[in-house]
Amino acid sequence: MPELRDLYQEVILEHSKAPRNYKEPAGTNHKAEGYNPLCGDRFTVYLEMDGDAIRDIGFQGAGCAISKASASMMTQSVKGKTKAEAHKIFEQFHRLVTGHSHEDGSEDQAELGKLAVFSGVSEFPVRVKCATLAWHTLEAALEGQQEKVSTE
Ligand code: ZN
Repeated sequence: MPELRDLYQEVILEHSKAPRNYKEPAGTNHKAEGYNPLCGDRFTVYLEMDGDAIRDIGFQGAGCAISKASASMMTQSVKGKTKAEAHKIFEQFHRLVTGHSHEDGSEDQAELGKLAVFSGVSEFPVRVKCATLAWHTLEAALEGQQEKVSTE
């Protein structure tokens, strides 16, 4: 499938081979599991929240190159951000990979930075679920109950 080779850009391959923040942070107080049955991607996203801010983030699991690279790059892009900021990045990312950012697409791409490498995913609808799995899991973790209650 040569068209898929185009999609698997260098950055995506590199992140899938050496995912960043592939860990469970010691201070994890929120987590959620995500599963994409269409492809078999399965990840757990761990968050160390400090009030409304994502102090640390990690993920573990298995999946295709796109899902793993997306999870890796997601952790880099939301670490240190607030819940609201992370939500906004996800909205932009979602518009990008679903091809719905025609009018303000350039703006989304500029703000998304490196995440813009996933824009090619919009040509492969079945891959959109791979690219957004980690993000949906992040949202679930952000909304979820704290697993460990801080005594501070
Ligand atoms: Zn996948």
